[in-house]
Amino acid sequence: MKVTDAQMLISAVSDAQYPKAGLPEIVLSGRSNVGKSSLINRLLSRKSLARTSSSPGKTQTLNFYQVNQILNLVDVPGYGYAKVSKTQREKFGQIIEHYLESRKELKGAVILVDARHEPTEDDKAMYHYVDYFDIPILVVSTKIDKISNNQRAGSLKRIRQSLEMPSEEPLQSFSAINGEGSSEIWSWIEHRMKD
Ligand code: GDP
Repeated sequence: MKVTDAQMLISAVSDAQYPKAGLPEIVLSGRSNVGKSSLINRLLSRKSLARTSSSPGKTQTLNFYQVNQILNLVDVPGYGYAKVSKTQREKFGQIIEHYLESRKELKGAVILVDARHEPTEDDKAMYHYVDYFDIPILVVSTKIDKISNNQRAGSLKRIRQSLEMPSEEPLQSFSAINGEGSSEIWSWIEHRMKD
């Protein structure tokens, strides 16, 4: 998608604040520091619309970005960050759970994992959590520029296995540095928007 207009609509703490225009929504999740803000900025061709994490996990809100007035990208705060208290995590768990199970506009989830590492227990939990709600998933392996070409196949295989992904489910490599994978991610999102 050629992005001509991208704006932060709202950081919502409750569903009363969710946008009401009925635009299709794609949610993006991943643990803190996985490269989610960088991916959002790259997809939107903006330098710093999504804040890259100097203080990861600090804002426990759903951030809605409206794109070309036809789509919302919904940024879920990074999980797995120790400084967020257990109470905060539980509270946020309820917000995201409510969003995932009740949001009619939700068309798909992009779940980010780091190409260099085995998915964490939090990654696996998030994947299965989203899957439980029958939301179509695109797994994205981030920071792919940081691994060598001959490490790629092994990394992708490890991600598939540890998330127990069905073989037909897409797994896309991505680099915010050189843009690899952007057009494939957009294709997937555009396809989901039509559903
Ligand atoms: P977030 O916490 O998931 O939003 O992660 P950020 O987007 O803030 O990225 C965390 C760190 O990883 C930052 O230092 C980024 O510059 C770096 N980073 C993010 N994406 C990439 C990538 O594709 N390649 C490389 N080499 N570094 C990246």
